[in-house]
Amino acid sequence: MLSSVEVEKHQKIVELGDIKIGGDELVIMAGPCAVESREQLLEAAKYVKEYGGHILRGGAFKPRTSPYSFQGLGEEGLKLLAEAREETGLKVVTELMDSDDIELVNHYADIIQIGSRNMQNYGLLKKLGRLEKPILLKRGYSATIKEWILAAEYIIAHGNSQVILCEREIRTFETATRNTLDLNAIAWIKEMTDLPIIIDPSHGTGKRSLVAPLAKAGVTAGADGIIVEMHPYPEEALCDGEQSLRPEEFAQMIKELDRVAQAVDKRLVV
Ligand code: PEP
Ligand code: MN
Repeated sequence: MLSSVEVEKHQKIVELGDIKIGGDELVIMAGPCAVESREQLLEAAKYVKEYGGHILRGGAFKPRTSPYSFQGLGEEGLKLLAEAREETGLKVVTELMDSDDIELVNHYADIIQIGSRNMQNYGLLKKLGRLEKPILLKRGYSATIKEWILAAEYIIAHGNSQVILCEREIRTFETATRNTLDLNAIAWIKEMTDLPIIIDPSHGTGKRSLVAPLAKAGVTAGADGIIVEMHPYPEEALCDGEQSLRPEEFAQMIKELDRVAQAVDKRLVV
């Protein structure tokens, strides 16, 4: 397999300007679940920048379980992300759901996120292989590690080697938390592949107070970064407010992660 350490015996690093994902730097991606308004996004972006984040997250196209829930602002949301990038200098990661929107999302995003529900959308993965853009491939919530790696291979085999994996936790028999963090996956990916991997403790836990502990666990297991939801006013969020950190909680988590990073020979470049 192209991503296996047996083929290339060195860790792949995805570079975005000064940011290097997959090396000794710990990369922080943060922002609201969904882009909701100009005020919300610019305020969130300001906090991400101020507290040491590197990449702004925010969905303009949202995969919602119910068709009656907020579906995202679409292109308007992408334009707001571009404005926030302009204001803060942060790079932007946002989800692509439908191959009809591939050019549009590619135009605005610095990293294209493929969500859990689309991990095995092979037609979409092949098209991503033709782009020259980093792809954040989240683990399907019922995908085995091997199925996930093979999904990454679809992108790589079609020409795009800039794949970053994201362990976003899997569905198990446990119901106390939204999903279950698979720390094994992080250690396994690090040992068996050369791909960068980050962790999303927000969708994993579904609960704000559990985000920082699991972010730290993920980094300890070898993750190259984290992606977390942070909202200036989580109580008013249109999506995933209960798992979104408040800005001051985000700041505190970054301080703690700095210490954890040092313990595992990584650097948090602020
Ligand atoms: C998200 O990151 O907003 C998201 C929808 O994540 P997932 O695909 O992991 O559910
Ligand atoms: Mn979310």
